[in-house]
Amino acid sequence: MAVQTAESTTESVTGSAAPSVDLGPAAALSCRECGHRVPLGPVFACQECFGPLEIAYDFSDHETEELRRRIEAGPANIWRYAPLLPVPADVATKPNINPGWTKLVQADNLARELGVTGGLYVKDDSGNPTHSFKDRVVAQALEAARAFGFTTLSCSSTGNLAGAVGAAAARAGLRSCVFIPHDLEQGKVVMAAVYGGELVGIEGNYDDVNRFCSELIGDPAGEGWGFVNVNLRPYYAEGSKTLAYEICEQLGWRLPDQLVVPIASGSQLTKIDKGLRELIELGLVEDRPYKIFGAQAEGCSPVSAAYKAGHDVVRPQKPKTIAKSLAIGNPADGPYVLDIARRTGGAVEDVTDEQIVEAIRLLARTEGIFAETAGGVTVGVTKKLIENGDLDPALTTVVLNTGDGLKTLDAVADTGLTATIRPNLDSFREAGLA
Ligand SMILES: *Cc1c(COP(=O)(O)O)cnc(C)c1O
Ligand SMILES: [Zn+2]
Repeated sequence: MAVQTAESTTESVTGSAAPSVDLGPAAALSCRECGHRVPLGPVFACQECFGPLEIAYDFSDHETEELRRRIEAGPANIWRYAPLLPVPADVATKPNINPGWTKLVQADNLARELGVTGGLYVKDDSGNPTHSFKDRVVAQALEAARAFGFTTLSCSSTGNLAGAVGAAAARAGLRSCVFIPHDLEQGKVVMAAVYGGELVGIEGNYDDVNRFCSELIGDPAGEGWGFVNVNLRPYYAEGSKTLAYEICEQLGWRLPDQLVVPIASGSQLTKIDKGLRELIELGLVEDRPYKIFGAQAEGCSPVSAAYKAGHDVVRPQKPKTIAKSLAIGNPADGPYVLDIARRTGGAVEDVTDEQIVEAIRLLARTEGIFAETAGGVTVGVTKKLIENGDLDPALTTVVLNTGDGLKTLDAVADTGLTATIRPNLDSFREAGLA
């Protein structure tokens, strides 16, 4: 497998003239492990230690109240936070599907049911253009692809990401070519294919798809290709910060006390933490403690297992759960998630498939929100954390729902008719519905 290092790619992309790319406040890429810095480019692994690269910013020219006014006057989508993202200042004027600014629902009915007294909110990301949180991250990768002159947008996906890439590329006028395991459910295939890009089934599982994509990146056949979750991963990952920004702004520029966040690769959770810390550093919210809790399905719970065992390393698992959007058995950001849960006083917990389905129904019945299985995981874990005494019901709590229940109808397929009657009143009365 070709592992691309910072050195090899920045050279081929920027050449000796090294024209600088305009990605707003993004100043460089910095290694999460050793701090080694390299210029912005389509690279993801440190050439010194192979640690993950992430965006380093220069926020020095921001005056707090001016920045707050600018954000509040911005569009009702993620681009209101453009000054804090790796995107050019005029990003909102470019063709984009403009995700974000989804509802923060005050979930009083669910709170009553769970015994939460300190305020319970659901951040409902099913409201994004392709009905999952993935639109946020793909939007950042798209801007990086434009900046680096890529003409094809690609990814390896098990569903949600494929649809988000297809839609974003269609709107931006880029080619898209997305790779998925060949035996995905029909609903996900349709959702990814409908945007008109190319969709390739790989004979193998998600790990095989990933491996293939890494090979393609190192090959001339992949030249000009931006893989949102591989060579554009540092940019892509920053999109999750917008969840943190929105939650705080929607709470009236206030940090919540507790957040319950789903874990697949763990990227979203680590970047929500990064986003919260940035808001504190920029003075946009008051600095006070917050706790981040991670949520997994028992059938794919490598991070939760490591947390409970007190380990720093995450042992890979073979996923078997209905929460397919979270089914990454070897999560790249797992160790960072453990750090954050422990540093903030949170925890990582998991729930069974049965509890996931129960939680989907609970959220639907109390708040009128139909969540995909990932939302069942966070709501189910919230319930379990309260019962265990890990989550304090007297504190303000935000639970994430990252996708739409229409994407995982199978999970609740046994929900159906209350009764079947003849079209007359006698029959209606007989059924006991009057
Ligand atoms: C991708 C995804 C996540 C989070 O994934 P990470 O890899 O942990 O960032 C959460 N929910 C849904 C529905 C997703 O599709
Ligand atoms: Zn390094």
